[in-house]
Amino acid sequence: MAINQKAISQNATSLAVCYPRRVMAAVPNRAALLRILVIALISLTASHSLAEDIQTNTLYKIVVKPSGRPAAVHLARILAEDSDGSYLIEEQNGHQQLVSAVASGGIQPTGQPFQAWSKEQVAEDMLKRFPKGFKTHSSKHFVIVYNTTDAYAKWNAVLFERLHKAFYAYWKRFGAELHEPEFPLVSLIFESRNDYLKYAAEEKVQGAENMIGFYSMQTNLIATYDLTGIEGMIPDGQRVSTTELVNTILRQPAAERSVATVVHEAVHQISFNSGLQQRLALHNPVAISEGLAMYFEAPDLRSSSGWGGIGNVNKYNLALFRHYASNRPTNSLITLIQDDTRFQNAQTVNSAYGEAWAISYFLAKTRPKEFTAYLADLATRPLTTVNDDRQRISDFQKHFGTDLEKLDREFLKFIARQ
Ligand SMILES: [Zn+2]
Repeated sequence: MAINQKAISQNATSLAVCYPRRVMAAVPNRAALLRILVIALISLTASHSLAEDIQTNTLYKIVVKPSGRPAAVHLARILAEDSDGSYLIEEQNGHQQLVSAVASGGIQPTGQPFQAWSKEQVAEDMLKRFPKGFKTHSSKHFVIVYNTTDAYAKWNAVLFERLHKAFYAYWKRFGAELHEPEFPLVSLIFESRNDYLKYAAEEKVQGAENMIGFYSMQTNLIATYDLTGIEGMIPDGQRVSTTELVNTILRQPAAERSVATVVHEAVHQISFNSGLQQRLALHNPVAISEGLAMYFEAPDLRSSSGWGGIGNVNKYNLALFRHYASNRPTNSLITLIQDDTRFQNAQTVNSAYGEAWAISYFLAKTRPKEFTAYLADLATRPLTTVNDDRQRISDFQKHFGTDLEKLDREFLKFIARQ
């Protein structure tokens, strides 16, 4: 399949995995735009193997000369190439991008193997890219890049590390083979919502105003802003300077959705960096990625050790599903899995999120081993060029049985008891 470069350049938007904050409205066309780029990237990976002289674990110097713009040099490994001269490349910080207009003779091996950057290298690079006033804080797996308070950055790192530990422990119990992230996991925290929105605009993430954070599959970054100042939790102009105070503020009931959203984006990041899921996989239903993130989303902030929140009933999404259940079509499970259109429409996105949580909760609680095997199957599958509705359903049936009506009855009964 040829890559539609025109569509990419006109519609290029960051492959952000979103979670509309109040799930009030979908981000119209956003998913469709993402899909164009995903399809383009995937057509590249699936249709064209690398030329024999390109080694996937070699660091290349790639010179790109777009017409009318200055040349750019990338140090990266090459994941795929297309016959029209486009390449899917991955830089040492984990950023993936599609480059075209590669200069003639513009791909040269550096003579070094590809090596992911260390946390120190990533931190140094990020500080060069952001204005004065930004700082970094590193924990075992995460690099927090921020211009908010030190206390808030540290609070995030502690939260993410706890999530990371709980996430790996959870999946290990059911036989998932996860690996340590190859790249440091970077989280950008802006002091103000305005700065966050500016960054989202630069990254071409649409609908950021409906979200308090997002994870981008291209940059592999999470971006969010300081939540301790929102919704009147602290008076304007005050800075939260101790982690104790951060905890106190974010334990308020009003903060529950905000914290849940930050955790939600971090689950996406860990999921795509641990091998539980693969980036750019069209055969992976959005309902499953979102359901997974919602399954982990509500931490028990009173728990000082461990996580304590995995697999709790997500009351917010249960309410969304209950509201939908009274008018739920009989083929709802099929439409949820076979394609992602219900997530792309403002009228259906609420119920799609509610049902995605509900089905993931049901599968994780009643069929954890099958659910894990299903995820492993999707994560190790070669990428495909187009979404295949029937393939998605048959993948689902392979792990959860062919009688989907029976499964659906069991699902509804189970959720009704929650
Ligand atoms: Zn999400």
